Amino acid sequence: MDKLAKKVVLITGASRGIGKAISVHLADKGATLALTSRNQANLDELQAELTDCGVSVKTYAADVTDFQEAKSIVKDCESTLGPIDVLINNAGISGPNGNVLEQDFEELWKTMEVNVRGPMAYMQAALPSMLRRNAGIVINMGSYSSVHPFPGAATYSASKAALARYTDSVQATLKGSSVQIFTVSPGLVETDMTKDAPFVKDIPKEFWSPIEAISRLVEKLAGGKYASLKGRFIHVKDDIDELAREADRINSDNLYSLTLNNLKGPVG
Ligand code: NDP
Repeated sequence: MDKLAKKVVLITGASRGIGKAISVHLADKGATLALTSRNQANLDELQAELTDCGVSVKTYAADVTDFQEAKSIVKDCESTLGPIDVLINNAGISGPNGNVLEQDFEELWKTMEVNVRGPMAYMQAALPSMLRRNAGIVINMGSYSSVHPFPGAATYSASKAALARYTDSVQATLKGSSVQIFTVSPGLVETDMTKDAPFVKDIPKEFWSPIEAISRLVEKLAGGKYASLKGRFIHVKDDIDELAREADRINSDNLYSLTLNNLKGPVG
């Protein structure tokens, strides 16, 4: 039997792009899905497609920044589908592009809210039950810009760096627990977010990643076999099995993490 069969997976931002691709991929592996986005019509369409494949799917139209909604979605999901095995914090926006000083401040802040408050809300809602069960996996969607300055997308970069640091900090807080939390970076993927984005338009096609690659990485992490890498930042182009073999060194040298290096090496 497939290792994801009947596992309950909650995916935010499932209506389009990467979230939708992951939903379709995990459904194909037999997962039971709880899917969110703000657009009920798109979720209905996806639910119909997935239900035809024989998997159980529930959908929730909600803004990811609403903590009360996050709590009620998690509660409803757990009482109707079962305890959440995997939470995928995928919903995100790029926010206004260009020089931040020329952008509307509230729009810039909205980017922080969707990309940071959203995942925090769903972790805050879902982690207590995972901790009680001493089981569960959280996958947070990072980015190249979590670790590199991204001219033209400063707020987006700041939000993705914050999320990566939140991920490993929360993991460190859960010392002794079997709950696993990861940041994944999907590479540059052609979706609504990137198709007209000025900050990626000059990047040659060979640097882009197929959308299936992030779905496969998420599937592997959701399978639960990479506990030795918990808290780490994993890029879609990494060979995760090689990383697992090197886990002792990765953990002792704090690799695959946000760190500051000065002339003498890592700071702190
Ligand atoms: P899309 O714009 O294609 O899809 C974004 C998804 O997030 C949609 O399902 C959208 O649903 C949902 N969403 C946006 N805002 C909210 C909100 N306030 N509440 C609930 N859902 C929301 O983006 P991608 O698929 O490209 O991106 C998915 C994730 O991957 C994001 O976190 C992004 O930052 C990250 N990423 C993407 C990269 C890429 O190259 N595409 C590169 C690196 C990271 P709806 O509009 O229906 O609410």
